[in-house]
Amino acid sequence: MKASSLFVVGWFMTFSASTFAGVGACGNTHYSDEVLRIHQSSLVVDGHNDLPWGLRTHADMDLTKFNLDTVQNNFHTDMVRLRQGGMGAQFWSAYVPMSQPQASAVKMTFEQMDLIERMAKKYSSTLQLALSTKDIRQARLKGKIASLIGVEGGHSINNSLETLTKLYAKGARYMTLTHSKNLDWIESATDSPMSQPLNAFGESVVREMNALGMLVDISHVSARAMRSVLQVSTSPVIASHSSAYSVTQHPRNVPDDVLQTIASNGGVVMVNFYNRYIEHGGRVNVATLVDHIDHIVKVAGIDHVGLGSDYDGVELVPDGLEDVSCYPSITEELLKRHYSESDIRKILGENLMRAFQKVEELISTKS
Ligand SMILES: [Zn+2]
Repeated sequence: MKASSLFVVGWFMTFSASTFAGVGACGNTHYSDEVLRIHQSSLVVDGHNDLPWGLRTHADMDLTKFNLDTVQNNFHTDMVRLRQGGMGAQFWSAYVPMSQPQASAVKMTFEQMDLIERMAKKYSSTLQLALSTKDIRQARLKGKIASLIGVEGGHSINNSLETLTKLYAKGARYMTLTHSKNLDWIESATDSPMSQPLNAFGESVVREMNALGMLVDISHVSARAMRSVLQVSTSPVIASHSSAYSVTQHPRNVPDDVLQTIASNGGVVMVNFYNRYIEHGGRVNVATLVDHIDHIVKVAGIDHVGLGSDYDGVELVPDGLEDVSCYPSITEELLKRHYSESDIRKILGENLMRAFQKVEELISTKS
């Protein structure tokens, strides 16, 4: 049966065939009709894409310098390939480096959020800004890719809960608690140990995020700090772009005991595609990535894994996952490993949607 013929039935009608016409380019990879049918009818959510930083460093935030409606081979990401990849909702990273004073990090973060908003407006035939799970579903019904903002790094609040509130008001829907270095209040996965992995102010940041309805992101956070955060957070947490430590022993990955705690917390670990975080056994391809998904499913359960590519934030990506057009390759590999259709939908995006919706539902009880 041709994939296109399925569009005549049921709710597939909602997503017109033209919406995701050409899904599955990925270097001319040929996907089966079944892979395409499942992929096109799933809501694919990605937790982390660094294109906005690329647009700052390569275009000085000037959106006229690149036409993202054409394939841009110097990036992993453009509108053409996002559609080919069947993307449903993308969290765009508002990342700024930790190398400057935190006051200027705050300013630059707002500039990055502004850039994301401008990008979504400029490419409004493809993108639509979204602030909630409801917005994501609505964008999807209109054939648009929901565009959300995730702030990468607690340095972007400059030790101020008021700034955190302003980031939320501007549209940030998750914040990664730190980046490559420790902050006064939280320990990074890639810095030296602190006396306390999460101090009292750090706890208040987590509580405030719960109250605001902002997803708490434990990517880049040390394993000790992850454990502390999970003790404090009363809402589901995410790792927006981290993989499994037991499969690849890198400090950026999530250890098994934390995976188990995330399961009881209702959160999601969104696997990072970066070669250095997923390589094991000498190969780095789609199967290597799905080994991480398998492991998280085994330890935390099918409801607690998702995707967080880190495209345009890393210099190496696996064979077969060269750019954002390649997401159907993950669906193909999951199908090959006998995941059910509903389990594939959970991994591709529904798990994140469930966690995000829970965070939204819990806002009122905490403010
Ligand atoms: Zn990162």
